Amino acid sequence: MAELLYGAPVATAITEDCAGRAGRLANEGVTPTLAVVRVGERADDLSYERGLMKRAEKAGVSVRRVCLPESCSQTRLMDAVAQINEDASVHGCLVFRPLPALLDEGALAHALAPSKDVDCLTPASLVSVFSGAGEGFAPCTAEAVIRVLTHYGVPLAGANVTVVGRSLVIGRPVAMMLQAKDATVTMCHSKTADLERHCREADVLVLAMGRARAIGADALRAGQVVVDVGINWDEKAGRLVGDLDAQAADAIVAAYTPVPRGVGSVTTAVLMDHVVTAAERALSHVSQR
Ligand code: NAP
Repeated sequence: MAELLYGAPVATAITEDCAGRAGRLANEGVTPTLAVVRVGERADDLSYERGLMKRAEKAGVSVRRVCLPESCSQTRLMDAVAQINEDASVHGCLVFRPLPALLDEGALAHALAPSKDVDCLTPASLVSVFSGAGEGFAPCTAEAVIRVLTHYGVPLAGANVTVVGRSLVIGRPVAMMLQAKDATVTMCHSKTADLERHCREADVLVLAMGRARAIGADALRAGQVVVDVGINWDEKAGRLVGDLDAQAADAIVAAYTPVPRGVGSVTTAVLMDHVVTAAERALSHVSQR
């Protein structure tokens, strides 16, 4: 039977570290603060927001919510971001995406101050992740994958890793971060020929496809570690499932992250880590003046 790599111990370790650092910042009169910009009332945004509020409390991070109506204009959104940029007491900003169709995400990405971009919205952050240089933060979910693998001591240097999915928020940044850890990375997508073979050949398999239980026995082999980022609603089962067929994986692989209670629970902890880091940097810039 495969080992289950739960997210909770990883999230707890990151949160405790944040709380310690937030305590030290408090001694300097600084409260790490995150602004959360939400346009509309999408159920998954509201659910993520509730989760991050709980996590923030444990991490010693203060959260300011900026809730805009679904009908909000681009100007109003840009004004909200401009205010956040100018407010020195706010260290990080998360904007829920996707935005309603009439709003221009590209313009927003150029408007947010890169130093406050804690979830890799801006081009400057993306350049950092892809070049390995600079101070830009990676997308929280992509970094959560790396944190899970590191926490459970999965060797990455020299390992063959297959990443399935090439989105800018998960697949591509994960692949870059894995290469930075000296893994040999194969990236797969919907046009990949013989996906099963690429999956079987991997020592570590990262799934970010958004296809319920798409990866089953044919794509797995003994000894593998699988990180399942997928979150899919299974109508038949009436519950959330990953991209991995967990039942098949149980009998074959060495270990995998369950869905739910896997990578998803680490994402908000990584977000808090980014906010605390942004606050530490802001303080050190002030003391260097
Ligand atoms: P996305 O933008 O839709 O990208 C999906 C990727 O998977 C694309 O690159 C696509 O290939 C590839 N793909 C789709 N079907 C495939 C198939 N049959 N074979 C091979 N590749 C296939 O999704 P995303 O935003 O990256 O999210 C991926 C999953 O992660 C979703 O289930 C999402 O809900 C979940 N998620 C989890 C968290 C978390 O905290 N755990 C956070 C965010 C998202 P093409 O590029 O060729 O289309």
